[in-house]
Amino acid sequence: PFCFADGQIVPTASATLHPTDLGLIRGYGIFDFFRTVDYKPLFLDNYLDRFIASAERTFIPLPYSREELTEVIYELIEKNDLKEGGIRMVLSGGISENHFSPGEGKLFIFAESLIFPSEEKYQNGIKLLTLEYVRPVAEIKTTNYALAVWHSAGWKKQGAEDVLYHQGNYISESSRSNFFLVKNGELITPDSNILLGITRKYVMELAGGAHVRPVTMQEIRDADEAFITSTTKVLLPVTQIDDLKIGSGKPGPVSLGLLEKFRQKVGGLALT
Ligand code: PLP
Repeated sequence: PFCFADGQIVPTASATLHPTDLGLIRGYGIFDFFRTVDYKPLFLDNYLDRFIASAERTFIPLPYSREELTEVIYELIEKNDLKEGGIRMVLSGGISENHFSPGEGKLFIFAESLIFPSEEKYQNGIKLLTLEYVRPVAEIKTTNYALAVWHSAGWKKQGAEDVLYHQGNYISESSRSNFFLVKNGELITPDSNILLGITRKYVMELAGGAHVRPVTMQEIRDADEAFITSTTKVLLPVTQIDDLKIGSGKPGPVSLGLLEKFRQKVGGLALT
């Protein structure tokens, strides 16, 4: 595979990061990740908006314009023959004289193969474990997933797919996905301490809207259905949270209907 690093397209394995880069020594960096469908980036404008906003809000200078980024992305899709895949843009904090203030950002853009969840998970739904946590400046897509990575060994042992973050009584999101409840046919999704997911936005459009507001832990108990959304999972039904079964314990009609609608509109790989 090929990536963009230091202003050029090079074999990914030959790209390097300086050992004192803030991404490495302070965990300071931002990224974004989108899919290609039939050689075209899906919702590229939305992802570029979010990536550029993350760079601005973290004070990491992005050394390329939006137009330059777009050009590089199309070049990488061609060079990697990326019909159905993922593109990751990473902007690391850069080399810093005092090992603390952001330097000139170091940009990498690279291609990845997509790993969709198995069809079995779409048919049976997944389990989440609640975890009290708020991602620091949650609306910025930073590269800091340390707590989730650390927890992931434990949640697998408990038969869970991921965690569901909450602060006190209020639910926010999963470690790499947004969260929705369905009650009486209506969608409800948390409004704060979340990354504004591009898939979340599109699913709300497909549904003709959603209630975006604080969501409490108690509401899980009364929910008819629940699901998570993300670029790689699209829409994955949640049928258990901790020891509690959601609704009937099976993926529900609203979740499956929206997933089907997404597949029809977007096309690309079947989620198997
Ligand atoms: N929330 C977090 C913390 C994420 O990391 C992600 C995706 O990576 C999402 C939500 C879902 O966002 P999107 O639908 O744009 O992939």
